[in-house]
This record gives sequence, C-alpha cells and structure tokens, in this order.
Amino acid sequence: MKTVIEPFRIKSVEPIRITTPAERERILREAGFNAFLIHADEVLIDLLTDSGTGAMSAAQWAGLQRGDESYAGSPSFYRFQERVQEVFGFKHILPTHQGRASERILFDLVGAPGRWVPNNTHFDTTRANVEHTGAVAVDIPCPETRRPAERHPFKGNLDVAALEALINKVGAENVPLVMVTVTNNSGGGQPVSLANLRAVRAVCDRHKLPLFLDACRFAENAYLIKQREPGMQDHPVREIVREMFNLADGATISAKKDGLVNTGGLLLLRDEKLFMQASNLLILTEGFVTYGGLAGRDLEAMACGFEEVLHEDYLAYRIRSVAYVGDALSAAGVPIVQPPGGHAVYIDAGALCPHIPASQFPGQAVVCGLYRKAGIRAVEIGSVMFGQAPPHATETQPAAPPRLELVRLAMPRRVYTQSHMDYVIEAAGELAKDPQSLRGLRIVHEPPVLRHFTARFEEV
Ligand SMILES: *Cc1c(COP(=O)(O)O)cnc(C)c1O
Repeated sequence: MKTVIEPFRIKSVEPIRITTPAERERILREAGFNAFLIHADEVLIDLLTDSGTGAMSAAQWAGLQRGDESYAGSPSFYRFQERVQEVFGFKHILPTHQGRASERILFDLVGAPGRWVPNNTHFDTTRANVEHTGAVAVDIPCPETRRPAERHPFKGNLDVAALEALINKVGAENVPLVMVTVTNNSGGGQPVSLANLRAVRAVCDRHKLPLFLDACRFAENAYLIKQREPGMQDHPVREIVREMFNLADGATISAKKDGLVNTGGLLLLRDEKLFMQASNLLILTEGFVTYGGLAGRDLEAMACGFEEVLHEDYLAYRIRSVAYVGDALSAAGVPIVQPPGGHAVYIDAGALCPHIPASQFPGQAVVCGLYRKAGIRAVEIGSVMFGQAPPHATETQPAAPPRLELVRLAMPRRVYTQSHMDYVIEAAGELAKDPQSLRGLRIVHEPPVLRHFTARFEEV
C-alpha cells in the first residue's frame, strides 16, 4: 500500500473552537499582533510549536499512574535512566524540567566573557543562555541553508571550513565546546548528516574540543539520515541514533519534542568532572539528581516516549505527514524552505512578501494573515526573533539582520489529522494568491531579551 496512515487510533478527543473573522480581528488587535499573546482557546489549529504539544500514548498515561514520587532514588528514575542509557549510550544522565534548564547548567559551567560557542544555528534559548554568560554564540550553517528554494538533503549541516577558520581566529583555548543542533530548528528543521557530524568530530579532535549535540529532534534527524544518506537505508533508526551520539561528548535535549512528553529534558555528559559540577548546579535550582525538577510520573512518561519515538512506523508517518503539507503548499504557490524538514514546514515570508522590508517584519505579517484568515497560529522565525542586538553586542558580533524571514508551521506530534492539514493548506494557498493584502508591522513595546515572546506591534 502507498498510503501512509496515522499509526494510531484516537480514544480521547479535545474539541476546538471555530471563531468568526470579526472575533479574530479583535483578538489579534488585543494581542498586539503577537501570536504568543493570543489565548490558546481562541486558536483553531495551533502550529505555534511542536514543543510539549504532542499527544501521549495509552502506555505513557499508564506510566503516570506507575510513577513513584520518592524524593531520592525513585524506581521511576532508575527505569528512566536505564532506558535513556540504552537509547543514547551515555553513562551520565541528568533529568531536567526542559531543554533550557540543561542549557543553563551546561553554559554556566563552560561559558564566560571572551569565549566563543560555534553551532550550526543556535536555537533562541540556546543563544540566550550562551550570551547570558558573556560568551559569544556564533552560527555557522552550511551555505545551502541560505538558499531556501534549493533542495539539498542535509541543509542542517554545519560549515566545517568556517568552524576551522573560527577556531584558528579566536584560538581553541577560547572555544569551550562545539555544538551541533539536530535537526537544525532555526535553520528550517533541516537534518544534519552523519558525514557532517564525523567531519565536525574530526575538527574537534584536532583541536581537542568537546562536541555537544542539541538533540531535541534526534529521532527525526536519524530517520532523515536513513532516508537520505547514501548507504543508510537498511540501518535501523535505533542504530543511527547510537552512531550520532557515539560521536558526541554530551548533549542537551528537550524531551518536549522527540521525548513525546509535555515537559522534561535531559543533560547527557561523558566527562565525570563536568557531570559532578552539573549535578551540583542541578540541585541548586532544579532538584535532586534523581528527579531534576520533574515528578516521578514525568520520568515514566519520558522513558516510554524515548522508546516510542524510535518506532519506524511512527517516524514514517511523522516525516511523511510534514512532507505532505510542504508539497501541497508548494503546489499552491506558497514559497517554502525546501525540502520540508522533520517537524515543521517553513514558509519563506521574504519571498512571499517582497513588498514588506525586513524592518517591517514580513514573517510577522504572514503570521497575522494566517490567524485572520483561518484561526491558524504559526510563529515568525526571522527579524523579530533574531534581529535584536545581543546584550553583549561587540564589533565582531553586531545586531545583523538575519538571513531569512521565515514562518514556521510546527506540527504537534500525533495531534492533528490530514483534514486539519488540508484546511491549513487551503488557508495559506489563499494568502499566497493575494500577498499584497498583508501589511508590515512596527514594534511598539519590546523587552531587552527574547523579544518575540512579549513584544507588541502595530500595523504600518
Ligand atoms: C526547544 C528547543 C530547545 C529548548 O528546549 P525547551 O524545552 O523549550 O527549554 C533548545 N534547542 C532546540 C533546537 C529546541 O528546539
């Protein structure tokens, strides 16, 4: 059979509310044209993020009942630890409440003024946590990342020559670690190849630097390696995951993505000394090492999620359903980042709205257009999210306009059906027929960091 179906059936449903165009106009204005400030029950199809928005399985819900809430040494922790060790091949594992807690602990230990952290593309919280320590976060994606319409199997790759050049320029002693984000979320949800990870590892070895993965979407990345990397087609995803992690000295993971849970995170480390230091910081702000700010039941759900996400029928459905939306949007004349990535389709708002300059936020205009037309919530990944001067702006790292103006349609895992997606495709297709109806915006209020969460706008 050619049809790829949802490999599950639904036993609990959540109604969603259909609003009128007049209601949506009022809601959008009250939210200051910022989709983060719209109440979720006023959204019909919520593609703001794939983070923590997935549906848990019956086995995960059963795990919640099994959760043991002992403060120290809970059996739920040991079941979780065993599963995570088996999936990733790391001895030292700390649970955290979400990915950014792992980042905060890691960069507290290795970041400082005068240090440089290279990454294919820093995610927003990763960049903020690096910069919070006074270090400089440097994005060095492969050149194909900047050409949204071009199809390339591994547009998430890191530019290995640029990495070598950066290390030579700033000195290896000022680079505490090299990070690779799999899949490259801010760069379009694009995968990183095993070949690229091996090449980055070789540079790290030459300069004696540790390699860390920001591995929120490790399973989607591994499945895309299986599909796209020559010679990998017959390898089980489980093995590919181990090959990826065998190349790394550590990883920060948000379990809200491929962990298939609503909250949770991991910090994986090989270095014993770093693990001891990280454990102390975890205890300071998150909780004891056998729960890390989570309930015992959350650890059960995570243990189960990290297993379920490796089922290949799930991954086949997941990757195919994202590609379905991407291909249909393309056919409807909506410019997207090609090829569609693992967890989201990215509309190229810069290409869709050439009449709106970057200073008037074309991505934000498309976000507002999708909500107005159809009650769909998406998120801007462009000048609003990344155009703000970093708190430690220097001559070498001024607030440069980002290279792409994107709008992300992130797909919650196991939540929406194909007809929900057909509705999204129709709405975006209609916007693409009349892009002139979309208007630029100006910021009327912004906080000092991570402004996209709370900024307010007005239409120009
Ligand atoms: C979500 C995400 C994070 C941060 O994780 P949270 O659980 O949201 O704190 C870090 N890096 C990437 C690539 C992410 O997608």
